[in-house]
Amino acid sequence: MSLRTFLLKMEEKGDVLHINEKVSRSFEISYIIKAFDAEGPILMFENVEATKTKIVANVCGARRRICEALSIKPEGLYQRLLEAWRNPQKPKIVEDGAIKEVIEKPDLLRIPILTHFERDAGPYITSAVVHAKSLDGTTENVSIHRLQLLDRRHLAIRLVPRHLYKLWQMAKEAEVDLDVAISIGVHPAVMLAASSPVPLGVNEFEVANTLLGGKLQLVKCRYVDAYAPADAELVLEGRISASKEVSEGPLVDITGTYDIERKQPVVEIVNAMHRRDYIYQALLPSGTEHRLLMGLPYEAAIYEAVSKVVPKVKAVNLSVGGGGWLHAIISIEKQLDGDGKNALLAAFAAHPSLKHAVVVDSDIDVFKIADVEWAIATRFQAAEDLLIIENVRGSTLDSSANQETGLTSKMGLDATKPLTKPKEKFERARIPASKRVEELTRKMLGH
Ligand code: MN
Repeated sequence: MSLRTFLLKMEEKGDVLHINEKVSRSFEISYIIKAFDAEGPILMFENVEATKTKIVANVCGARRRICEALSIKPEGLYQRLLEAWRNPQKPKIVEDGAIKEVIEKPDLLRIPILTHFERDAGPYITSAVVHAKSLDGTTENVSIHRLQLLDRRHLAIRLVPRHLYKLWQMAKEAEVDLDVAISIGVHPAVMLAASSPVPLGVNEFEVANTLLGGKLQLVKCRYVDAYAPADAELVLEGRISASKEVSEGPLVDITGTYDIERKQPVVEIVNAMHRRDYIYQALLPSGTEHRLLMGLPYEAAIYEAVSKVVPKVKAVNLSVGGGGWLHAIISIEKQLDGDGKNALLAAFAAHPSLKHAVVVDSDIDVFKIADVEWAIATRFQAAEDLLIIENVRGSTLDSSANQETGLTSKMGLDATKPLTKPKEKFERARIPASKRVEELTRKMLGH
């Protein structure tokens, strides 16, 4: 249940593209990842300038692949995630694993860390899964953080005020550094679990273990009190400084704009472990993979929350245009007028960063934006169906939100058919066709 076993499985399905041409880790690789962005294959860069290490990218860059990783059909994805959040199971702690093939003094400059965008502050690790414990050992947390390369032994870590930030604050009050295990190159289930909106106190490694059917194994780090998957590709043991901060950023974030420069803590790296021929995992900021990893767990959260207020939710899409984060389209089977607005309120509560949401009937495909626009064009009346909420906490990833306070305005559109008006007026006209003409047309279109 490692990244490697998953890559083998995808290789057999023909979903890995090997790139043998020599490419540079500065811009060239990120440019190629972007070119393959829309639900494209896994990319394996075999020949990276100035290193023998291979780089893999776009691992979780397609919905179908994430479903493959969890061995489920797309329609079962949300249920599977929700079940795992409710039933976290302790992974087995083992003494040894492939990660311990090489244990050495760390030298971050030897890792092929990518520089992604023109005005980024420099090379950034963007796929790292970070594990830490509270000082009293009662709370464990796993989350994904961007890490800026500073020198051979130091990274800057971006701590959004969430769980790891909280653990770091607690350590800071006690005037001690916070031990962390930084794992790179892990199974997609671990990445998804680490991106899940479970409350503080739930160890995301336990969620990952449930997603993997109890097959996740962890090793304890050698010099710090933290854990890492026994079959990861590369693990950096480090300590987040209680006192040392540096200027971190800018770096492109999920919306494809540059996140600002801020004072963020320094991580001192004290040890490195890796497989002998470790593969470095890259992840393009603002790419499909970034959107899916951040957004899919919130689609599940929205699905669950809206399911509690309306009889049936058909589908949820945190759309590409909304950066997979700020825009949701939700299709429901509505029973009463007003269901649409309740669905909107539930969606905003389930995903605090959500800014604009559209609720449509179940005959609209939430993944076809022209369909959604059509529903707004023909079923929506601004004076009645528009919901605006002012001065509410949103996301600073939205450049138009207040960058200090995160306050924003939210908008919901109830684009479901009103039940008070004649149904026929809203019916989408179809042309009856025989099997023969359907088949004939498919052939003409070359499908
Ligand atoms: Mn957490």
